[in-house]
Amino acid sequence: MERHPIIERLEKDLGTEIVRTTPAELAAASHDESDMEPVTPVCLCRPRTTEQVLSIVKAAGDLGVPITARGAGTSLEGSSIPSTGAVVVDFAGMDSVLESVPEERRVTVGPGMVYDRLNHLLRPNGLFFPPSPGGSADVATIGGMASTDASGIYALRYGGTRPWVSALEVVTGRGDLMRVGALVPKSTAGLDLKDLFVGAEGSLGLITEITLRLAPVPPASRKGGFLFTDLAEACAASSEMAAFVPEMAALELTDGDTMDLLRALPAYRSLPDGHALFVEVHGRDEDCEAGFEAATDVAGARGGTPLPTHIPDPWELRHRMTGVIRESAQPHGVVRTDCAVPLLRLPGFVSETKDRAKTDGRGLYVFGHVGLGVLHFLMPLAGDGAWSRPDALAEKERLGLAAVEAGGTISGEHGIGQGNRAILPAEHPVGIDYMRSIKSLFDPENIMNPGKVL
Ligand SMILES: Cc1cc2nc3c(=O)[nH]c(=O)nc-3n(C[C@H](O)[C@H](O)[C@H](O)COP(=O)(O)OP(=O)(O)OC[C@H]3O[C@@H](n4cnc5c(N)ncnc54)[C@H](O)[C@@H]3O)c2cc1C
Repeated sequence: MERHPIIERLEKDLGTEIVRTTPAELAAASHDESDMEPVTPVCLCRPRTTEQVLSIVKAAGDLGVPITARGAGTSLEGSSIPSTGAVVVDFAGMDSVLESVPEERRVTVGPGMVYDRLNHLLRPNGLFFPPSPGGSADVATIGGMASTDASGIYALRYGGTRPWVSALEVVTGRGDLMRVGALVPKSTAGLDLKDLFVGAEGSLGLITEITLRLAPVPPASRKGGFLFTDLAEACAASSEMAAFVPEMAALELTDGDTMDLLRALPAYRSLPDGHALFVEVHGRDEDCEAGFEAATDVAGARGGTPLPTHIPDPWELRHRMTGVIRESAQPHGVVRTDCAVPLLRLPGFVSETKDRAKTDGRGLYVFGHVGLGVLHFLMPLAGDGAWSRPDALAEKERLGLAAVEAGGTISGEHGIGQGNRAILPAEHPVGIDYMRSIKSLFDPENIMNPGKVL
């Protein structure tokens, strides 16, 4: 088989240690954690330096070959599935701490640094990077998180990734090396180019260094959960807790159907029936005590009872959810949403969606960071209550549009990728043209992750 000219060029510039073409390595880079069609890349590059990244972008630009950046490939919207005919740039080899300044609560890392590893390294200084991306925290990279503006269980109190990124080094699609942002918490020097790269899903350029602000580890925390017989009441309790319990750091909904799947696992046989709200409060000991008490009062007024104390860590349960639902829907997997609605719209939005699926005899699981209004509805494509893929995609689109109509968004955290691309113009009917113009400025040849986002 004829070798693609980009392989010759990259091997000449970088060597075969960096440029990988074995079928196993190409297959591993062909998919992400969405259940969308894999695409085999032309080759895989594992750069170790910014200079090597510049060489890759230069070669791709010269030959008009697309580039898809890859962190850990945990995207749930097909963002890190290679664009057709693309070179994948895998940042796993650029994973060092480049500068650590605990006195200023900041750290600069390579984009391949893994979220949990970074927090492990920061812990002796009493600092952490808060927006934990839940079940992928042990593998997701800081480059991937910055590029999707990832959030997670602690985003309720601390925000998503964006407010913690103070500076970036990037290579634009035009091949320019650029520093954006500054090593201070805030800058008003011109238009904010840094924030364009946060959440761009690799569509403007490649991030080669990231400086993060850090938070002090809270002096104390307390976690637990509440069980409800009525899903709408659980949603109403969550919006009241988010609004009125200032110590609340995490607030996660899990519906009874998802709890049933978890209960089928040997470790969780004793999990009680019901819909669950899992919570965590942060502060000093007395703040945590007061916050937990306030949350218990809010839950009680909505018919919620505390989760029995023998139940394991709620976050262990939370992190197993995507896995158990996908497992139950093999071999086809799931279609999922990531829409977000204003807090007061949660009870109606969730119960109407669940009721409609029930009437149609279809399975529908829901969980999410309800403190932020984020709802992950998962529709199984196989097994009990299976949806056909076209019906599930139509429902995903309907829910995204309904969320926008309610004043929310089609994506609270996973990004647009391929899965939300068709309805992005509905959320930004005017803004979409501005987005396209901005993209063409940074990436005039459209080589940066084409077919995603815009
Ligand atoms: C079980 C599970 C739970 C999850 N929970 C959450 C959650 O709670 N919150 C949440 O926000 N997300 C969640 N996710 C989604 C995902 O983990 C996050 O989006 C994560 O930030 C992606 O990191 P990654 O390193 O895997 O990036 P990838 O998937 O490899 O890449 C994501 C996007 O960023 C681009 N990219 C990666 N690195 C760079 C770079 N250096 N420069 C430019 N572009 C780059 C890629 O091209 C792609 O478009 C979850 C995923 C799974 C599988």
